[in-house]
Amino acid sequence: MKAYVYQPDGSARVEERPVPKATSDSAVIAVQTTAICGTDLRARRHVSKSIAAPRVIGHEVVGEIVDLGSGLRDFAVGDRVQVAPAIGCGRCRPCSMGHTNLCDNLQTIGFQFDGSFAEYMHIPAAALQSGNVTRVDQELPDDLAVLAEPIGCILNSHRFLNLEDAASLAVFGSGFIGCMHAEIALKRGVKTVFILEIDAARRSSAAETIPEAVIMDPNDPATQESITSITNAAGVDVAIVACSAGPAQTQAMNMTAKMGRVSLFGGLPAQSTGYIDSNLIHYREISVHGVHAATPEQNREALSLLQTGTLRTQRYRESVFPLARIEEAFEALEDGTALKVLLRPGQ
Ligand SMILES: [Zn+2]
Ligand SMILES: [Zn+2]
Repeated sequence: MKAYVYQPDGSARVEERPVPKATSDSAVIAVQTTAICGTDLRARRHVSKSIAAPRVIGHEVVGEIVDLGSGLRDFAVGDRVQVAPAIGCGRCRPCSMGHTNLCDNLQTIGFQFDGSFAEYMHIPAAALQSGNVTRVDQELPDDLAVLAEPIGCILNSHRFLNLEDAASLAVFGSGFIGCMHAEIALKRGVKTVFILEIDAARRSSAAETIPEAVIMDPNDPATQESITSITNAAGVDVAIVACSAGPAQTQAMNMTAKMGRVSLFGGLPAQSTGYIDSNLIHYREISVHGVHAATPEQNREALSLLQTGTLRTQRYRESVFPLARIEEAFEALEDGTALKVLLRPGQ
């Protein structure tokens, strides 16, 4: 089979690999649709130490079970499934509290296990045992179900943010993640949504994707003033940093209202200190939350949300590539011509 293999030096290419085989308690899927995540982009830009290379990367996936361990009764060959990639051990303290995404022995598909940028993907026994595999309802197309993993992470971050009590939200970054945060916040009743994006072309694209949002350039000195004026000098109730930029974290803190909430959704690639002023947290009683991955339950919650058909997802489903053109797919994300890229390795 064809598979996109990431090397220890950060390079990657499509290679020929043997088709994986199921053991008595694991399974193999034919990958129907997989999507490139911001994490994959970052791994391609900077060498990723968290990937146990050489490794087939990719972790946003929907596929059909083609080989199933004889000991597995909950699934059948032919089932179409979505896989939550972060697999907890089930024994450590975070796992015992239900936070399997924070497992002390976390293993993730595309990092410690071979991932979905391939024609076939092995689903490890641990993923099946921990409830990370969910059958996809027949009515939910692949193109939507494949978005469940990143949306699961968004729902995880929203747990802390009390968007229901927020009148205003600022989102830094206008990629798929930024726009989807805005989309879900609007659905939850947030009246004023600002999207802050440094790139002009991406700003126009965001304006088409989320027409209700006020789109601004965070580097424009007038931006802070407009936010102050639109929020009647209060600042925003919630700020989400959905980009990997330290200065955006500083700006998010500066524009957050008293008792506001800040989500550090995007990790920083290298140095991560010096961006947060702790006195703002202290005197304004601001809460700052991190978020990492999502639990299988949050993946299922995302599938249910997608199933309602109420999220506007059309723009994330327009760029579809076969695996052989994966480099072009990455380029489309890098240069902003695509908000999200889907791959169909079987084509
Ligand atoms: Zn992802
Ligand atoms: Zn654990």
